[in-house]
Amino acid sequence: MHPIAKDTVQRLCAGQVVVDLATSVKELVENSLDAGATHIDIKLRDSGLGSITVADNGQGIDAAGFAALCRRHWTSKIQRFEDLDGVSTFGFRGEALSSLCTVATVTVTTATRESAPAGTQLTFTGDGELAGQTAVARERGTTVVVEGLFAKWPVRLQDLRKNVRREYLRLVALVEQYAIISDGVRLSLANQTRGGASTVAVRTLAQADRLARVVAVCGAAVRAHLVPVAHQADAAADGCPAMAIAGHVSRPLPDAGRAAADKQYFFVNGRPCDFPRAKRLVNELYRAHCPTRFPVFAIAITVDAASIDVNLTPDKRTILVRHEARLLDALRAALAHAFAPDESVFSVSRVQ
Ligand code: ADP
Ligand code: MG
Repeated sequence: MHPIAKDTVQRLCAGQVVVDLATSVKELVENSLDAGATHIDIKLRDSGLGSITVADNGQGIDAAGFAALCRRHWTSKIQRFEDLDGVSTFGFRGEALSSLCTVATVTVTTATRESAPAGTQLTFTGDGELAGQTAVARERGTTVVVEGLFAKWPVRLQDLRKNVRREYLRLVALVEQYAIISDGVRLSLANQTRGGASTVAVRTLAQADRLARVVAVCGAAVRAHLVPVAHQADAAADGCPAMAIAGHVSRPLPDAGRAAADKQYFFVNGRPCDFPRAKRLVNELYRAHCPTRFPVFAIAITVDAASIDVNLTPDKRTILVRHEARLLDALRAALAHAFAPDESVFSVSRVQ
């Protein structure tokens, strides 16, 4: 037996965080949000196969942080494992930038409040070491450019090329979730095809409220069907903490349009996440009234940070919730009246 060489370990592990196009973009957007950005512009060339650029107006990176920026497990966000209990930033594992360096070419341009309008452009080696730095002009904020994703990983590159449309749609869906949940943030996603045509896939305004964000993402046609849902469950004697549920769901109105199973979003403590059991519950409750369609929903759940674990998987999308059954009860209570027909719905259907 022998130990695996350092660069091999790096390549093996990098594959867990940056598994595809969508997670690459997700990690960069999360970094911008963690840096307190209120403007985030994502630009793709050739659906991300050419390049991914994420520019923000966040706090920027201090010169003292340049050398360690892309080193594996270097983070400015937590110091000890216990810090995870109250972690409010999206990032904390210090893996994204180092992984991106392994699978692509990364260039970072950044300026802080103190340094602007003087900024610095940084280049990195494949193992995340600082390779060069040049003085450039930059307002406060950070721009990360990722080029040649998976260029040195022929199997993944081939897979990405083959499925680029599907991967692009997954990326858009992921960005949509951050666009909904990031109050006060102007977020945009544009893709430029090889032919030069540019499409804007997502655009929200900084001043938009939650409903306006959901509409911006799900389309104006859905506005008339959305109703707010909310429920508050108090802490219980058995230690189950208080839970709050707030969001918007579309009602099974007669003209509810096409099925929209892909516009269903859950957030736990501000983190977009997959929550298959809760998703199934909402769809079941909806189908009891409208068997042929799916609801659009964006539901935010707030629970005591100590009762969730976001560290189950490297992409942090799987969240372990203690007292999950109670949470599902609270969700059921929040939706109790949302889907049931009432006078206003009947009057709508009578008009039709
Ligand atoms: P993590 O987010 O888990 O800390 P990353 O590899 O994503 O790890 O980022 C490493 C560090 O780089 C962060 O802790 C942060 O200090 C810095 N950083 C990355 N992106 C940005 C950004 N857009 N603005 C400011 N700092 C950033
Ligand atoms: Mg990060």
